[in-house]
Amino acid sequence: MGKEEDRVLIIGAGPAGLFCAYRLVEAGIPVLIADRMMSPGRKFLLAGASGGLNCTHQGTPDELSQKYYGNEELFKGLLTEFSPAALANWYKTMGSDTFVGNGGKVFTKLGAPEILKHWLEHLDRASWGSPRQAGIPLFTFQGGCEFTGFGDKPDIFMFRQDGKTLELKAKYAVFALGGGSHPETGSNGAWTSLFQAAGIQVAPLRSANCGVAVRWSEPLKERIAELGQIGKTKGYTSLNIRLRCGGASSTGEVVLTPRGLEGSGVYSIGYYIRQQLDKTGSCKVGADLLPDLFQEQITRRLTKPQGKNSLSNYARKALGLAGLPYALFRELSPEGDLRKVKDLYLTVTGCNPLEEAISSAGGVCMAELDANFMLKSRPGCFVIGEMADWEAPTGGYLLQGCFSISYRASEKIIDLLSH
Ligand SMILES: Cc1cc2nc3c(=O)[nH]c(=O)nc-3n(C[C@H](O)[C@H](O)[C@H](O)COP(=O)(O)OP(=O)(O)OC[C@H]3O[C@@H](n4cnc5c(N)ncnc54)[C@H](O)[C@@H]3O)c2cc1C
Repeated sequence: MGKEEDRVLIIGAGPAGLFCAYRLVEAGIPVLIADRMMSPGRKFLLAGASGGLNCTHQGTPDELSQKYYGNEELFKGLLTEFSPAALANWYKTMGSDTFVGNGGKVFTKLGAPEILKHWLEHLDRASWGSPRQAGIPLFTFQGGCEFTGFGDKPDIFMFRQDGKTLELKAKYAVFALGGGSHPETGSNGAWTSLFQAAGIQVAPLRSANCGVAVRWSEPLKERIAELGQIGKTKGYTSLNIRLRCGGASSTGEVVLTPRGLEGSGVYSIGYYIRQQLDKTGSCKVGADLLPDLFQEQITRRLTKPQGKNSLSNYARKALGLAGLPYALFRELSPEGDLRKVKDLYLTVTGCNPLEEAISSAGGVCMAELDANFMLKSRPGCFVIGEMADWEAPTGGYLLQGCFSISYRASEKIIDLLSH
């Protein structure tokens, strides 16, 4: 007869925790997954809210690992063990084909809600009737159950549910509590102080894949409001400009807002921007306002004299530079030197708040974890997903990272329980 305390306790029902549950249940291991929210996968649902879910990225482990800044070797191994192709196959078993979109981004055909529905149904179906664990379901979700700290014995974990204290006992516990962005999804990062109180080193959670602040002049802010806004709720239009920082150049859209810059083009160089901000409190970012033209083409086109044209007319006629890109040009080049349109600089003064970011940098320090993401100081406790200290840009790398880490930790637990 299976005992409740023999279940693996997974804390946090985001993609990392739910995938761990999936792997363990498939192996016939009973799990209890607890989450402070009443329903699972709230951030996963948000991730796929605006169209298809960018679930992974095309490329070899060697290529993709370069996006996991500072942890390239670790992720090369993780992505070899559970690759983008393996993840795409898994989505297929969850009812969704995938397709390759712009720049190698891989999307699911089904939206996140349908995938999550299949996922939970799969776990529910597998729930009963395992010959190994007759008596308790293989999968139990306990919502509204908030982890509040480690108990006084290594196998005791403290929770709050319905205003009451609850102790759960488990030999193996998997923490998958996420980062601190979009706390309305449940991932509020409050676990950091609980882990620190237990002597576990945690790098502070910080905004990653976030907009950055630029102190635009009032006239430019007005121009952005006038020319940039698509609609009251739809945000701002993206520009075809390229940004550079720390030897990296942006890939993806760049959006001008009255507060600064947003969009995947900014997120892709965000790591380098943050490093410079940490050093000096501000960061110079190179801006190429005409990335589709070579410098020689620009020089040639500008040999035609300006004549009686105003600068804005001349820029429009000679280079096709008009509207908001032209307003940005005037902001960054007060002297109006069109020859420098590919080589301008803007100053970033900070990152937008963590609550608004796509993901968090920081988390449980890698030095606290062994190769299988088990806490060295608490054998039997694993830390997976975004709550470990790694980061990557948007483009499918975040979910792929969560799944690959979860895969490795799950394999280890399966191995431990089969001996
Ligand atoms: C707007 C947005 C768009 C995104 N788009 C993409 C995308 O297109 N592609 C991509 O790859 N990634 C995307 N991401 C990032 C991706 O969603 C996250 O990296 C991923 O969800 C992290 O998974 P996780 O399981 O580690 O943590 P989470 O999904 O954050 O799950 C953590 C869970 O832990 C629970 N929890 C937290 N604290 C406690 C506690 N004390 N007790 C109990 N439970 C607790 C939370 O309620 C939550 O359910 C996006 C994120 C956002 C915000």
